[in-house]
Amino acid sequence: MTGTDGDVAPTRSPEVAVIGGGIVGLSTAYALREQGVPVRLYEAGLPGTGQSAGESRIFRHAHDDPRLVAFARESRGVWDEWAERFDVELVSSDGVVAIGDGALERLRVLDKVGVAAREIDAAELAQRMPLLAGYSGPAVLDESGGAIRTRTAITALTDALADAVTTAEVISIDPRADGTVEVRSVTDRAVYSKVVVCAGRETARLARSVGLSLPVRLAAHVRLTFDVKAAAPARVACLQDSSGEFGEVGVYATPLPGNSSYSVGLSETVGVRDDGTFIDPAAIRSLDERARAYVTRALPGLDPEPREFVHCWVTDLPWSEDGVAVWEAGSIFFLAGHNLFKQAPALGRALARAATGGGLAADLTPAARLGEALR
Ligand SMILES: Cc1cc2nc3c(=O)[nH]c(=O)nc-3n(C[C@H](O)[C@H](O)[C@H](O)COP(=O)(O)OP(=O)(O)OC[C@H]3O[C@@H](n4cnc5c(N)ncnc54)[C@H](O)[C@@H]3O)c2cc1C
Repeated sequence: MTGTDGDVAPTRSPEVAVIGGGIVGLSTAYALREQGVPVRLYEAGLPGTGQSAGESRIFRHAHDDPRLVAFARESRGVWDEWAERFDVELVSSDGVVAIGDGALERLRVLDKVGVAAREIDAAELAQRMPLLAGYSGPAVLDESGGAIRTRTAITALTDALADAVTTAEVISIDPRADGTVEVRSVTDRAVYSKVVVCAGRETARLARSVGLSLPVRLAAHVRLTFDVKAAAPARVACLQDSSGEFGEVGVYATPLPGNSSYSVGLSETVGVRDDGTFIDPAAIRSLDERARAYVTRALPGLDPEPREFVHCWVTDLPWSEDGVAVWEAGSIFFLAGHNLFKQAPALGRALARAATGGGLAADLTPAARLGEALR
């Protein structure tokens, strides 16, 4: 039934609405489904084509904030649970290797939280990272880290949610006096007990529509994919390079399924204005060129000519590039942050708990500044 004017009562439909079909929205809707709560997910386009686009992401436990390490560990457990339930591989078992002094600092945080990680020598590094040039500095292995199979995850969750997914852009959300929330989308008007907004770069706009200003910084980013020159290695770890040994200090890289190609990005973003226009369009080209130059120096096992790009928006918080928080406005929850793919299962369960009266986890409140390095 579609309500088009004032005298038609809006649809009284599922209990909770989730806005956004990226990895966090899908995980939240699926976590509600796990609890048997009727849910509807609105996605303006195809699920998983926003910041969750492209194949492969790094699942790492290592963070500056021990609370976020613990959160990642919880997420890893859910990734395994879902992998078993869907009978698919969601995170590879090849680990994450971090090189540079920063890796040793983070190893101390991992030890403190009790995550299995250890320093490895040059020989083991070469075995786990056969694409990397010779390197003999500090190297740390996060044994249960790995490459997230992003397409498999998006497909499995979307298929599992099937009828709960509505392809429609949400135009407005309107809190009502009785505590419910009216959602107007391109195709209908409906009322929910709770609404969870996981709309990526659109979350801040929807929050502003109910008078909430989120300290989200919008930026742009590029990641390049390169082919492996020789035969695909049987096993290859994800890489984080903060060493500076190969001319860059913030590199992340991950294999794609089958290990015949490898994605590389510099953990830098390009400034954009609130309206999404680039402050300096040449900046993204420079990130691209620096990533190619890094590959020629550091990853001789790769063909230096990229065959694929992921260009995307990034929405990070002022206290850390790994920062994440949830803002509450009555019956509406707004999730914001960056580097969330790995955290999505635990975030989804925490948002489902909050939307069903279980309260928002203290660490996810904005005041907690989750992700900030504790001094
Ligand atoms: C190149 C790159 C590399 C990355 N590497 C890593 C990594 O190694 N590890 C990691 O953990 N994270 C990584 N990240 C970050 C991670 O991918 C994102 O933080 C995560 O995907 C965000 O998911 P999301 O569901 O919050 O947002 P999105 O995926 O952006 O989903 C939001 C969805 O909401 C929809 N939407 C927006 N407005 C509306 C509306 N009004 N109505 C209906 N639908 C709407 C959009 O269409 C979109 O599909 C990387 C990101 C990029 C781009």
